Amino acid sequence: MKISVARNSGFCFGVRRAIQIAEEVAGKNDKPTYVYGQLVHNEAVVNKLKGKGIIFEDKIENIPDNAVAVLRAHGEPGTTYVSLEKKSITGKNLNDATCPLVTLVHNVAKKLKAAGYEVIIFGKHDHPESIGTSFYIRGKDTFIAEKPEYAGKVVEYIKKNNFGKVAIISQTTMSVDGYKKLIESINALLGKEKFEGIHLSMNDLGKKYGFVDTICNPTKQRQLGTQELARLADIMIVVGGKNSSNAKELAHKCEEIGVETHYVQDETQLKGEWFEEKEHAGVAAGASTPDETINKVVEKIREMTEKREKEIKIS
Ligand code: SF4
Repeated sequence: MKISVARNSGFCFGVRRAIQIAEEVAGKNDKPTYVYGQLVHNEAVVNKLKGKGIIFEDKIENIPDNAVAVLRAHGEPGTTYVSLEKKSITGKNLNDATCPLVTLVHNVAKKLKAAGYEVIIFGKHDHPESIGTSFYIRGKDTFIAEKPEYAGKVVEYIKKNNFGKVAIISQTTMSVDGYKKLIESINALLGKEKFEGIHLSMNDLGKKYGFVDTICNPTKQRQLGTQELARLADIMIVVGGKNSSNAKELAHKCEEIGVETHYVQDETQLKGEWFEEKEHAGVAAGASTPDETINKVVEKIREMTEKREKEIKIS
């Protein structure tokens, strides 16, 4: 059995940076370090950090006043900073691990809004990144299109409200093909007027309907690497956390290609029968999956398939 790992699998620089910030802060402070929310969407990584004394809190009210806090990579709405300030968690005590590429999306949203655009997000309603970005648009009333199939609803929303200018941006971890499909479908429904690309430099804000490519490069490269391998392998194992939006997207990409795909959190969820009569297993992993977990998955597949090959030879 040949086992290959997709190019650009595993930690992206934003996740690596967030973990490094949390570890450094915890290492240099005598007081406990609190992380607000799931720093990254991977249970194994979170548990390892808990082992280093880091405390994870989903509610700001549970973080004590004057505490040392770290904010996750996904970005926060402005209300988070206000609530933390009320608890005197500012300055050196506030360590913001928001990925710079998420901050870039916030800035794009702010500039579009300031230029008079109604801003729509291609993203997941309950994902912290979309929640954070929504703050800079219309808060919880921001229109979020979760899938390309939402094109009809987007057009309905635009027509019903008769907006002068509309712009679409994307959560950084969404599907590249999905975003393209959403824009194409909207354009097909709109008729004469079309959504056109607006460059990230935001130099051209005169267009009536525009979209900005805010899917981050690490996500694009990871999706590409996974698709390349999914076309060659006859089974794909995608490794990611329960709530990892980008890892689930990779699994979806593999399924679209038509290869048998299984989504696992770690090697303990692998089943020997999946690999029967297979010759090439591909492994892909989301941005918050550590190399250690990827290696264990590869090793377990090797172990299971070598055992089976030996049994076949003996019989
Ligand atoms: S997926 Fe992209 S935006 Fe998100 S943390 Fe990684 S590099 Fe940053």
